[in-house]
Parts: sequence; structure tokens; C-alpha cells
Amino acid sequence: MTAKVYLVGAGPGDPDLLTVKAVRILRSADIVLHDALVSDEILQIARPNAQLIDVGKRMGEKRLTQDAINQLLVDLAGCANIIVRLKGGDPSIFGRAAEEMSALRQAGIDFEIVPGITAAVAAAAQAKITLTDRQSSAGIVFLTAQQATGKGRTNIARYASQDCTLAIYMPAGQYREIRNDLIAAGLALDTPCLVVANASRPNQELLWTDVAALASVMVPQSPALIIIGSVARDRNEVLACNTIHAIEPSIEAVR
Ligand code: SAH
Repeated sequence: MTAKVYLVGAGPGDPDLLTVKAVRILRSADIVLHDALVSDEILQIARPNAQLIDVGKRMGEKRLTQDAINQLLVDLAGCANIIVRLKGGDPSIFGRAAEEMSALRQAGIDFEIVPGITAAVAAAAQAKITLTDRQSSAGIVFLTAQQATGKGRTNIARYASQDCTLAIYMPAGQYREIRNDLIAAGLALDTPCLVVANASRPNQELLWTDVAALASVMVPQSPALIIIGSVARDRNEVLACNTIHAIEPSIEAVR
């Protein structure tokens, strides 16, 4: 049996944001190994008799280690034709795809990446902002606040600059440190920041704030990310009801 593993980007949550290719491959899969972030609506695209394996259980349930997931992919390739490794957003952005591809290469198993819409791109679209701007933002840096165990915190100050946009993934529990890093890098206190939780999902939240107030925002439910830079200023005239402005430190945070 010639197996092939597809590392497929499931996008930010809205099934309409899947690529046509992702849908086609998902429909043909014998086995789907998926992350916790992938919604049920997307999993339902798989054939009813496809085997679905949740390798990203959260909330205290036992999670497979990355090594165990790598091994599982290799083992499954011995007993199925089409294996889909379904990841939130794009597989190549903070998706641990490098480790899985390395295991597949070593085992001589054919694989392919099917890109997906990464969370920051979806978040910007939902907020009706751009991630670059030829007047004020020369580029975008995708950063994670969480690094592999033992690697310490990301040195966010190293990447921050007034004329570049930062998209910080996995900021949970680090809003104060991130704010301090941005100030240490010399960013103005009123540099716009946009926190987006559950981008493109029914429970999406947009929180418009700035560097000064970043440590005191009411942190939304995860998954969330922060877009920092002049592009993240709210220019929308009509605000959606789930939009919150948090320029003033919240009373909760002051207590
Ligand atoms: N490969 C994914 C990122 C995986 S890391 C991608 O390309 O999007 C997981 C982090 O992504 C979360 O902690 C959060 O910071 C971000 N994220 C994923 N989905 C999100 C969503 N729908 N809304 C906001 N942030 C999201």
C-alpha cells in the first residue's frame, strides 16, 4: 500500500475559509488526525467511515506528546492510503509541522503540505484592517509568545519596531510581559493593539486597545492573538456589537 500523508491547514475556524484542495483531500481521507482547535463543522466534511483521531485533547485530558504524534503518523502510513494531519490555521506557522515532516522523511513516507489561512490573516480580515500599509507598515512579523520547553520567553523587543506590524500568537498569561517588551523596544504608548479571539468563529471577540493598556485588558477566551502596530487602529465607523474599546485600564485590572 502506498500511503501519503497530507499536512492540511484547516484555517481559523470558519469552514468557508478552507481551501478547495483541503476540502477535496479531507473528503478522500481514510484517517484524520486533528488538533483540538479544528471545529466539528470542519471534521464533518470527512467521510462518515473515516477514522478521526483527536491528538490535541485539552482541558486536563491526556494529550499525546509531539513524539507520539510523529510516531503515530508513521505507523498509520503502514495501514492506510490517505492520512490527513489536520492543523488549525496554516500548518507551517507555529504548527509543529517541521517535526512531523522530519519523522515522515526519515521513514521514507510521501507527504504534501496543503496551506491554510493563518489566524492573524483571518483576524485582520474580520477587523477590516490590513497587516501592512505602504505608508506606515513595511512588513509583518509572526511571533509566538510561547517557545518550546526550556527555550525561555520569546525576546519580543528584538522584533518590535514602529514601522512594522507584529502578530503575536499564543499570548495567554503574558500580556503584561508583552507590553513591557514593547515599551522597552521604544514603541509609543499609544501604538494601536488589537486582540482577536476566535477569529472567524461565532464567538469571535475584537478588543481594540494600545500598548499602554495592553496589560490591563480583559483577556478574552483563547485562542487569541494580538496585532500590534499602526495598522491596528480601529477605522470602522460602525462597530460590531462584539467589539470592545479598552483604551482605559479596566476597573477589574486596577483593583
Ligand atoms: N497554525 C496556526 C497557529 C497554531 S498556534 C495558524 O496558522 O493559525 C495556536 C495559536 O494560534 C493560538 O494560541 C492563537 O494565538 C492562534 N489562533 C489560532 N486560531 C485562532 C483564531 N481563530 N483566532 C485567534 N487566534 C487564533
